[in-house]
Amino acid sequence: MNSNFQTPPFSEEPQEAQPSLPINQSEPNKRPTSRRVRSNGKVGSFSILNGLQIIATYAFLAATLFTLFTPNNLFSGQMVERLFTAWQANPASISQVTSQAAVDSAANRIGIVAGHWKNDSGSVCADGLTEQEVNLKIATLVQEKLTAQGYQVDLLAEFDDRLSQYKAIALVSIHNDSCQYVNDQATGFKVAAAMHSAYPEKASRLTACLIDRYHAKTGLPFHANTITNDMTNYHAFDEINTDTTAAIIEAGFLNLDRKILTESTDEVAQGIVDGINCFVRNESISPTATAAK
Ligand SMILES: [Zn+2]
Repeated sequence: MNSNFQTPPFSEEPQEAQPSLPINQSEPNKRPTSRRVRSNGKVGSFSILNGLQIIATYAFLAATLFTLFTPNNLFSGQMVERLFTAWQANPASISQVTSQAAVDSAANRIGIVAGHWKNDSGSVCADGLTEQEVNLKIATLVQEKLTAQGYQVDLLAEFDDRLSQYKAIALVSIHNDSCQYVNDQATGFKVAAAMHSAYPEKASRLTACLIDRYHAKTGLPFHANTITNDMTNYHAFDEINTDTTAAIIEAGFLNLDRKILTESTDEVAQGIVDGINCFVRNESISPTATAAK
């Protein structure tokens, strides 16, 4: 009796589970018949749902790829790598994958050359101030600011080994003009681009961005007519990878612009940072800036 009494509760549980098993097992047997009955409707709705899912997935992929397809990515094989990553990845994780890729790659890298650094002094003022130390101060601030914004920034010496086939979104070399008094017009900045790059139109854009933003930040005039062969034939332009968009800036004249260069160095650096961001983010430029190449 006791055992009889005890077994029902125990056996009932398995029994409850067991009846469900035969039902489940019998369902596959039933399905073929029921499938035949509603095969048309079921298959139809299933394929529509499938189709919608496929369309949604491809639309998402296309949209994601389209956003990746900015001019800044075009310059290198990085674009291809990203496409590959995007195709391989689950659509839901594309953004994570690409942001990870961006951290590791040239797509997030910017090179800043501190003119004459580790090589020579550049221009020298009567009191011993050297172009090289002014360049390095500006370049270091530019590096700090861009790093704070999430870029990977290389601070490069004038003849840095890393310049050989250097790959980055942009390379900007920072120099300054003579400390000799020439005339009252010897004030302002110059920008020249590496026009031998694979994408000269991008070099023009980097130049225009630097001119526009640097002038806006510092108020210094742009010296379009005094750009020398030393600038346009700048040695680093021939060393870097042709995919890398590069420019050289003479931030000011050490003589007449000394005050802003040495006392408002942060603004000077910010002007260069703004110019680089303008290029990287494809921001609009005032029409006057594009006239100067
Ligand atoms: Zn120089």
